Amino acid sequence: MILVIKKNSEKRQLDNLISWIKKLGLKINLSTGENSTVLGIVGDTSLVDIDLIRSLDIVESVKRISEPYKKANRKFHPENTIVSVGDAKFGGPHFSVIAGPCSVESEEQIISIAKSVKASGATAIRGGAFKPRTSPYAFQGLRADGIRLLLIAREETKLPIVTEIMSVTHLDLFRDIDIVQVGARNMQNFELLKELGRINKPILLKRGLANTIEEWLMSAEYIMAEGNEQIILCERGIRTFEHYTRNTLDLSAIPLMKELTHLPVIVDPSHASGLSRLVEPLSLAATGVGSDGLIIEVHNNPEKALCDGPQCIRPTQFDTLMKRINVILPLTGKNNIV
Ligand code: PEP
Ligand code: MN
Repeated sequence: MILVIKKNSEKRQLDNLISWIKKLGLKINLSTGENSTVLGIVGDTSLVDIDLIRSLDIVESVKRISEPYKKANRKFHPENTIVSVGDAKFGGPHFSVIAGPCSVESEEQIISIAKSVKASGATAIRGGAFKPRTSPYAFQGLRADGIRLLLIAREETKLPIVTEIMSVTHLDLFRDIDIVQVGARNMQNFELLKELGRINKPILLKRGLANTIEEWLMSAEYIMAEGNEQIILCERGIRTFEHYTRNTLDLSAIPLMKELTHLPVIVDPSHASGLSRLVEPLSLAATGVGSDGLIIEVHNNPEKALCDGPQCIRPTQFDTLMKRINVILPLTGKNNIV
């Protein structure tokens, strides 16, 4: 971290700053020029609150030269992390597709969709039991009963289950869930992230609606700092000025994230666009830029879906999509999925 000190600052203030930084266990290289004084701070600068330093009277500017995330950083862990549950493997040469409805609606619905997506090559089932809806009057999910139905679908298909947690108070209900999803709206629910860092199951961490790549990685760091290193990151579109799509899929985040972190990164083309007809082109594009997998909303009757019908594709469309993804996969160095 580099600090430029304002010209004519009092020596006493500079000494105070230096001794405070040293107390954090960091080393300082001081360079006093004719026009400015520069402090180079060396060590684990993740301990330093950059905004606090920036606000000090004597500080002209601050620049971080090393990233504040350590455990998620590829610099300190060059090999790809592979997260696997059953046949669902994410990272390295592996590409997996998670598919299912936005919400679990009934036993027949989840079992029928689960069986069809399995037949097309999906290796994990998604389905919301607790739904983060904008309106308190909208369908909130079947909650505990939804979890029970997901476990029946797992029994029927032998595929692992992915579902979203919204509160630490529900952790007990998630005991038998295979992959716990943290939705976009909870990406910075730090107390939830810390709790999930203490459990031994993969976490699917979605990018927040308006969060930077660095904030997203810092959320992964929260989970990893508590000991859980099985994280799958998911780009699901960010909010921009554009209204023709529900969100804007940040495709450039995928190859960039692969440079910055060793964790697997997948894409959700359904929430990214909000439009079923864009799911296929965005899935193919995501595969092409090196995504480690996809999470796709599939419904057997999208017109009647209780949540996100307009973005759900049908099982037959999903089947065609899987075959097309398979054609692209070898070009990106990934194993085939069907
Ligand atoms: C979901 O996957 O059902 C969901 C609510 O997604 P997001 O958190 O990305 O909006
Ligand atoms: Mn949804």
